[in-house]
Amino acid sequence: MSQYKIGIVASEGIAIGKAYLFIKEDLEISNLKIEDNQVDGEIDKFKKAVEEYSEELNNTEVSTETQQEVINAHIGMLDDPFLLETVEEKIKNKINAEKALDDSIKEMVTMMQSLDDEYLRERATDYKDIGERLLYKLKGIKPKNLSDLPEDSIIVSKELTPTDTSLMNKDRVLGFAMDLGGKTAHTSIIAQTLGIPALVGMKDVSSSVKEGDFLILDCYEGKLYINPEENIIKEYKEKVEEIKQEKIRLEAIKFKEAITKDNHKVEIACNIGNIEDLKLGLSQGAEGVGLFRTEFLYMENDHFPTEEEQFEVYKEAAEMLDGKPLIIRTLDIGGDKSLSYFKFPEEENPFLGWRALRICFDMPEIFETQLKAILRASAFGKVRILLPMVISVEEIKRVKEILTKVKEKLKNENIEFDENIEVGIMVETPASVIIADDLIKYVDYFSIGTNDLTQYILAVDRGNDKISNLYNTYNPAVLRSIKQVIEASHKVGKWTGMCGGFAGDTKATKLLLGMGLDEFSAPAANIPKMKDIIINISMEDAKEFADNILNIETTSEIEEVIKKAL
Ligand code: PEP
Ligand code: MG
Repeated sequence: MSQYKIGIVASEGIAIGKAYLFIKEDLEISNLKIEDNQVDGEIDKFKKAVEEYSEELNNTEVSTETQQEVINAHIGMLDDPFLLETVEEKIKNKINAEKALDDSIKEMVTMMQSLDDEYLRERATDYKDIGERLLYKLKGIKPKNLSDLPEDSIIVSKELTPTDTSLMNKDRVLGFAMDLGGKTAHTSIIAQTLGIPALVGMKDVSSSVKEGDFLILDCYEGKLYINPEENIIKEYKEKVEEIKQEKIRLEAIKFKEAITKDNHKVEIACNIGNIEDLKLGLSQGAEGVGLFRTEFLYMENDHFPTEEEQFEVYKEAAEMLDGKPLIIRTLDIGGDKSLSYFKFPEEENPFLGWRALRICFDMPEIFETQLKAILRASAFGKVRILLPMVISVEEIKRVKEILTKVKEKLKNENIEFDENIEVGIMVETPASVIIADDLIKYVDYFSIGTNDLTQYILAVDRGNDKISNLYNTYNPAVLRSIKQVIEASHKVGKWTGMCGGFAGDTKATKLLLGMGLDEFSAPAANIPKMKDIIINISMEDAKEFADNILNIETTSEIEEVIKKAL
């Protein structure tokens, strides 16, 4: 029987191809004491390496914004005189260029890794990456490069850095399998954006696979087959063909409206973090944006983005949507999301701490700047405001007061905006579920954030591996909360959407439809399948299905019923 190795699915799909081992060898650093008359030569050698690498980066062809960001970050670090000065200083102390570079990078990496800030810690990887590239240049060795790959490669490695993926020839890569990494690692996000199947956290895949091995990467089940038997290859070739045919079929319906057989219409929107995600969403048939996670705009910057900087992005999105709704969530920072340019206080429980609206209330100028930018963009499309982490009516009233003040300012400045801009809240805390009947009186709509709602309802940290088996949105407590929220909005003639990951789970589409969900906001890739499901069922059937599930007492039984229905 064919054996397989298990990994965490970072990006869905199936790939059949040949292993391309991308293992970086440890470069030996020559450690030489140099003479006075060699100092200038070593400095020049280092400067030349920097110049060559900068030139290489500037000439790299990029196809996504994320790649451009990685490249820009590296160019920025190379331009920063700090690196050059540190290395020069060491060479002047009679250390050769290689050792001076290695010592300088190690110092920077140690310093950055000791910081609390997650974003800055990630920059340490960038420094390591730059150090390695410069070392290759100093040694005059051409590193193994993913730009020159055989056709149909599945890349197997310990870890791929963002630079590796940026310089990769995407037309030849069918998939990734990595020892390290998690679902939300930078490389995983790049794989999702590019639609490349990827398994991460495989522990020892890079030492279990040989160059040229025949691989099947099943990124639905989280399995990697190495040189499998004929019957497995045949089975997967059939699956790949089915997926291909299914893709062609879905291509034909992706721009249709999501209307059930008995004429019940829902909206299928996409979640975005930047303009590139929006382009992808629209190409897959999104009928709007149900969640713009604006914190990415803040996280990618080295300062709080100005009103103008934000306005430009929101306006561009509103215009691209051409009248379709754009739901912009106000800054949801804190918890596991930090900023390189702002020091958050140490907290025992950051997910229960100073995050989202709580920060915005304490830093009114930041909040008002964002609201002003959103309001200005509302003159260019159908823009809605979404507030994260709400737990009380007071919070909504407070936001409304601030909003009125900002609107007044805009009027005084004769700047156009949508006076009736709709305001909604994320329902992602137990408090907001319990008082949903009250909260809905003060807002225009709800959007359920199942990622946080699941963690808070179940008291299960969404990022903790040890208890990930308990983190399950199919738990009856979460499902009944969702139903309660939808009902609270319908009772007063308002609507409820969902922008948490559960909205894009195609196994849950029928259930959510039957519960009465009005809007689903999901990653672009899932949209065609969701529409296909909705178009081919009746609301009556979906309701009966949902009612049945809401009466079940255990998560496992619920999952069993869902599985059977597929
Ligand atoms: C959620 O909590 O479901 C959500 C959409 O917000 P985020 O994942 O950004 O916390
Ligand atoms: Mg959330």
